[in-house]
Formats: sequence, structure tokens, C-alpha cells
Amino acid sequence: MVLDTPLERVFDYLWTGEETPQVGQFALLTFGRREMVGLIVAMKQNSDIPRDKLKSVLTVRQQLSPVSSEWIALCSFAADYYQRPLGEVALPAIPKNCRTSKTTALDKALKKLSLSLEVKGEPSESPQLNAAQQNAVQHIVDAKGYAPSLLYGVTGSGKTEVYLQAAAQVLARDASAQILILVPEINLTPQLQGHFQARFPELTVAVLHSGMAEGERTLHWLAAHTGKARLILGTRLAILASLPALKLIIIDEEHDPSYKQQEGLRYSARDLAIWRARQLNIPVVLGSATPSLETWQHTISGRYVKLSLPDRAVAAAVLPKMRLIDIAKDRPQEGLTASLISALKQRLDKGEQSLLYLNRRGYAPVIACDACGWMSNCTRCSAFLVLHKQEHKLRCHHCSFELRIPKSCPTCGNSDIQPLGRGTQRIEENLQKFFPDAKIRRIDADSTRLKGSAQAAFETVHRGEVDILIGTQMVAKGHDFKNLTLVGVINPDNALFSQDYRAGERLFAQLMQVSGRAGRAAQKEGGSVSEVLVQTRYPQHPLYHALKTHDYPRFAKECLAERQQAGLPPFIFQALLRAEAKELQIAIAFLRQAAELNVPEGIIMHDPIPMSLMKMANSERAQLLIESHSRPALQAFLKEWLLQLRTLKPRITWSLEVDPVDI
Ligand code: ADP
Ligand code: ZN
Ligand code: ZN
Repeated sequence: MVLDTPLERVFDYLWTGEETPQVGQFALLTFGRREMVGLIVAMKQNSDIPRDKLKSVLTVRQQLSPVSSEWIALCSFAADYYQRPLGEVALPAIPKNCRTSKTTALDKALKKLSLSLEVKGEPSESPQLNAAQQNAVQHIVDAKGYAPSLLYGVTGSGKTEVYLQAAAQVLARDASAQILILVPEINLTPQLQGHFQARFPELTVAVLHSGMAEGERTLHWLAAHTGKARLILGTRLAILASLPALKLIIIDEEHDPSYKQQEGLRYSARDLAIWRARQLNIPVVLGSATPSLETWQHTISGRYVKLSLPDRAVAAAVLPKMRLIDIAKDRPQEGLTASLISALKQRLDKGEQSLLYLNRRGYAPVIACDACGWMSNCTRCSAFLVLHKQEHKLRCHHCSFELRIPKSCPTCGNSDIQPLGRGTQRIEENLQKFFPDAKIRRIDADSTRLKGSAQAAFETVHRGEVDILIGTQMVAKGHDFKNLTLVGVINPDNALFSQDYRAGERLFAQLMQVSGRAGRAAQKEGGSVSEVLVQTRYPQHPLYHALKTHDYPRFAKECLAERQQAGLPPFIFQALLRAEAKELQIAIAFLRQAAELNVPEGIIMHDPIPMSLMKMANSERAQLLIESHSRPALQAFLKEWLLQLRTLKPRITWSLEVDPVDI
């Protein structure tokens, strides 16, 4: 029996009932003084524990069909690879309603499941594929067994249509086949769900993401688990869904950092998808216009097949023209250059939409006092409190600590304290001053707190009720805005000088993605040429150069060469041990102790260092990087090392991350 506990063990329980339970069933039992639901992973005749000491299983969840051995193997692999107990992987991956002592909610969901799941949309016809799309679909459906491919298609090249038509063929030839489609953001699921439901009106589509209410989540999970849902759409957590008839996995925007879970079981949904496809011997498609360097490298080495869609799917739609606006020459007023203002004005005059992208929410990232130099620091984190003007608050984006905006400087009493820098709220306010009649809409995490509000906001854009959309990376991904001909990028330069070696790769992907929102339909008669304006102080930077020519392959080639030379992933394998304590020295001391444990040859142990955001929520944090040229060697070492670490019984919080993305 496997239980959701930090103990890395399988527990023996006694079965005294009639019908022998099956592996994969869930059972209610007592653990200590609590009732818990466990997963049966093996049945055996004998136990090392004497019979009279064994506790009995209370009941087996008969109403829930067993999970497959494939699913248990997937969880075991994840537990093993990411160095976590199996119970902490497998149990949290099923809905709460399936693992509580009462079964009322579960029974209700099962009853509901026999009815229908979702309202059906308008049926849609499939368009004629272009040659490149046709080739991609053919390759995917012709694949025999495990076949990983990269669908490398520029923005607007019709990757979704490839997914739809490949899905159609896989579903048609196997009456029970299930297909899993992953997207990076919750707010992209409604659009995709619409496409799939319209194309397959007779099939049940299940959706799985973290924004769902518990009852809804149970229902959709059960639809997947029972095989009723043939199409399963979701964010990263959907990779751990129980799917008894999985025949194809699709990961859209595979490069997206959100596929990496950043707490608890720190898994990569993309990497697990690859593993799952290999285990099931089925094809897996990774889609992107800016693939991760790991994936790109695999296409070079031949491990993945590259399927290219080089052109936009709508014949008359062309990639937008890129313009780098040198802010040393064209000085921004209130964050906006004259070039951008005039480009916006042109779109307003023609009744076209524009999008302004600024990856920083709030009004201003900090407020400061000119007289004494005071700045709005968070007392609990090594970060600034961000000004949220409308809510009259200063708020920490790391620990959520809040203060009312002070009327005067808390240090010297000066009443003239000023916001420094700009966030989306400030740009919104300034835009309204420049264009008092324009319909301006901001979409970011602050404006879309309420459930369903993000979707409602995106719909107003699609309906043409918005002239200028301003937003963070929430607006950059995936959306197919038909009447948008201008993208303005404000202040992207910070990432050029970040310590994080992945910052450049991420910036490039974000800018390519957001650029891809422009010019997705044919240019209208008398309409504007679609354009992207990037306001930068470094127009000569090679990253912007590659961006200007839409040249991902060149960018990737340069990055990979740098990575190889510097000995960075994907040319090396990494793990990161993090520790936090009241004082930095305590965290460092623990890491130092860990680093001095027996380290075999082939493992590179670095020195402990403070994390770049050193203090968070009153904890001081440090990290220790471990590297190896061999993944198996690293895995073997980590396993041993963790056993030793646990015997140190550190009295601080620590965690290990395999294949870390934020270093
Ligand atoms: P991507 O995901 O690659 O950015 P989409 O799948 O959103 O691109 O497709 C962009 C647009 O092209 C959509 O409006 C889609 O309906 C349209 N489209 C896709 N394939 C075709 C095709 N073969 N013929 C005509 N239009 C197409
Ligand atoms: Zn002051
Ligand atoms: Zn804070």
C-alpha cells in the first residue's frame, strides 16, 4: 500500500474480506490515528510484520476502477527521478474527492458522469491543409510506436490544425483511443477546448487544470480515468492523469517554463510526457515556434524528428515587420516613444487593434524618496514592494505582504515620494491620456483575479470591443487575435543582463510569441502592414538582431554554442539543493555539510551560495549546485546522497530539484 506521507516506504496491510482486491485499486485504512486512502501497488501472501501486528484494510473503493500499471509505473518513475516518495506523487495526482474517507462527493460525481460533460459548440469544418501541415500530420499518424517529433512552426503557421487533424485520424482508427493535449496556461484551455469540441462534437472533452473547483475536477478526472473522455486538455498537471487508452500526446508551446512545477514534486511535464510516450510506445508531438534548446538539440542529434511549418497558414498573412526603436534617440514620454505613439494612432484611425506587452504588473515596481533615498523595500524579502495605485497598496509580489501607500517618506517625512519605473497599470493610465477616446483594456494577473474573468476579457478583444490591449505574458501566448496589426514591446532589456543563463532564451521566446499575435489574418484593403515595435536601449544586441529576422535557428545555434563552451545544459545535467533558515549562515552551513559528504568521481559539487532572491518571507535562502556529464551517474549519486542527508536530520527546510530551471 502506498500512502501520501513523506515516508519513502510501501506499507503492508491485511485483507480479510471476500473478493481479493486488485493492484491499482484505492482503499480506506487507518494510518496512526487517521483514516487515509492508499493505493494498492502489490498483493502478497506474506509480510515481514507479524500477522497480529498488521492493521486491516477498512474498505476498498469498489466504485473506482483500478488505475493501470502504466499509471503506477509513471508515478514510480517520477518519484524515482525527482527523488520523492511514491505516495507523495501518486495520491496527490488523483482528486481529493477520490481520497477522502467519505465517498459522497465521489458517488455524486460518478452519477453525474453517466450524463453529459459539457455543452457542445458549433460544429466546424476542417480546412484543406497546406503541404507542410499535410506532411506533419502524415508523419505523426504514420509513426509506429514511440516517435517523438518537434512541430516547429512559426507563429500562425497552423499548428492547432495539425493537432486537430492528427487527432482525427488517431481517433478514427481506434474506437477507444484517448489523446492528451497540454497547453502552458489555464487561459488557453477555453479556446482550444472550443476548437476540439467543434471538430469532434460527438466526443467528450475533459479539461484538467489547477483553476477548477474540486467537484468539477473530480468529474473531469473521472471522465479521463474511465475512458469516457477521448480528448483530454490541460495544463502541466494533466500529464499525471489516469488515461487507460492513451494513444497520442501533444504538448503545445513545449518550451514554456510553466511546464515545470516549481514546488513540491518539481517535475517537468514535458519530460514526463516523453517518458510516458516511450513507455506506452506511442507518438508524442512537441509544438513550438521557439523550441527549448534541449528539444532543438534533440532534433540535431536525431533523437526527435523535426516537422517544419515555415509559413503562416492563412496564405495572405505574413510575419510582422520588426522595428527596433532606439530609446536613446527616440526618448520615451511616460514610457512610450513617439514612434510607438504614432503607430498606435494609425491603428486607431483604421479601426485595427494593438497590443502593448510589458512583463511587469502593478503601477510601478517601487516608490522612492528623493530627499533621503528611502525605497519601498519588503521587510520580509529581498525585493521591493510594488505600487498598486488603484488599490492604494504597496504589495510584495513574492510574499504578498501589503502596506497602505504612505503619505510621506517613513524615514524623513518628505511628502514628495515618487513611483519609479512602470508597470502595466501605469502604462494603461498614460495611454488613456494620449488616447482619451480609445477603448483600452489591461489583462494581467491583477485584472483577472476572479474566476472566468480572463476568458471574458479575451472575448471582448476577439469581439473587437478593445482598441489597445495591454498586458503581461498572459496576453503573449497562443491567442489568435484576427484584427491585431501592431505589437509594442516596452522595456524588455532587463533580461539581457540577468544572471540566469536561461534569461536570453526566455526573452527571445516571449518576444517571438508576442510578436506572433500581430498580422495573423490577411492584410485588409487599405489596412496596415503588421508590425512589431521593440523599445530598447540596445538595438545592436544579437538577440534583437535574430528577432528582427525571425531567425530562431540562428539564435538557437549561437546559444547552443555558448552553452556547450560554458558547460551548461543541455550539455550537462544538474540538480540543485536549496535550504532556507532564519539566518543565511545556517542555510549555508547545512549545504556545506552536504557538499562534504562522500562525493564520487564524475560528480561536480559547487560551493553553496545565497539564492538570487536571498530573503523570502523572512527566510534566508541558499543553494548548492550539483552537476554531472552523465544523467545516470547523477541519479545514482542523488539517491545515495539523499539517504545520507536525511541522517543528518537537519532542522531547517530543504528541497532538492532535478533539472532545475531557475538557478
Ligand atoms: P499557431 O498555433 O501555429 O500559431 P494557429 O493554429 O492558431 O497557429 O493558426 C493560425 C490561423 O491559421 C488560424 O486562424 C487557423 O484557423 C488558420 N489556419 C490553420 N490552418 C489553415 C489552413 N490549412 N488553411 C487556412 N487557414 C488555416
Ligand atoms: Zn525620505
Ligand atoms: Zn515580501
